Amino acid sequence: MAKLLMGKEVSARIKAELKTEVDKLKEKGIVPGLAVIIVGEDPASQVYVRNKERACEECGIYSEKYALPEETTQEELLELINTLNNKTSISGILVQLPVPKHIDEKTIINAIAPNKDVDAFHPVNVGKIMVGNYDFMPCTPAGVMELIKESGVEVSGKECVVVGRSNIVGKPQAMLLLHQNGTVTICHSRTKNLAEKTKNADILVAAVGIPNFIKGDMIKEGAVVIDVGINRLENKKLCGDVEFETAEKVAGAITPVPGGVGPMTVAMLMKNTVKAAIINKSK
Ligand code: NDP
Repeated sequence: MAKLLMGKEVSARIKAELKTEVDKLKEKGIVPGLAVIIVGEDPASQVYVRNKERACEECGIYSEKYALPEETTQEELLELINTLNNKTSISGILVQLPVPKHIDEKTIINAIAPNKDVDAFHPVNVGKIMVGNYDFMPCTPAGVMELIKESGVEVSGKECVVVGRSNIVGKPQAMLLLHQNGTVTICHSRTKNLAEKTKNADILVAAVGIPNFIKGDMIKEGAVVIDVGINRLENKKLCGDVEFETAEKVAGAITPVPGGVGPMTVAMLMKNTVKAAIINKSK
């Protein structure tokens, strides 16, 4: 039976450690502050924003939420970002994605000051991740790295396969694994003989966005399997990109969905906000 990598528990531990750090920073007059902007009514985004606010409370991080209507213009959003870029009580700024279609996501990401870009999506931060000299780790891939550590398996020298090449998960995930000396293969929708690749993985990260896409027979015996996917089924249940029932019989360690990578993403966001406060000496 595979070891369950409980992101919920690991993230609680990380948040408790952060709370202690935040208390110490406050004694020095540094108060971490996160501004979360959400545009529109997307129900999944509402849940994510609520989780982030709750995590701020748990860690003693000051937070501001800006819930803007769907019809907000790009100019209005840019103006708010500009205000927050210059606000000393705010160390980190997060715009919950996706934004409505009339707003250009890239323009928004580029407008956030890189030293407040706690999602690490700004090209400056993406470049820093590429060269391995970064302030902010991208939250989801960083959470995945913590869960791999939890498995007790060393990344160095291992065959690591990432399925998915998005800018927010797949690509930065591959870089973080590479920085820890994994031998990394990135797979995507044009990859031929996918199962052949995934079956070779000592560490397999699935970030595809298709429910139950990776089956047990695509996994190497004893592999560490990290399921980034969050998919809502017609019956409203959440499920990952890995078919848990078949995968857990083969894997050495595996993340559940929910309760795996999801809570880790939020914990890593808190970590980045604290780091931003130190960098920006927020008051
Ligand atoms: P994207 O849709 O941006 O990327 C999906 C990737 O999967 C693409 O690179 C795509 O390839 C690849 N893909 C699609 N079909 C196949 C296929 N048949 N075979 C192999 N690869 C395929 O998704 P994200 O990276 O943003 O998210 C992935 C999943 O992770 C989603 O379920 C999302 O909800 C979840 N997620 C979870 C987070 C968390 O905190 N746990 C955070 C962020 C995302 P190609 O590039 O060729 O199109």
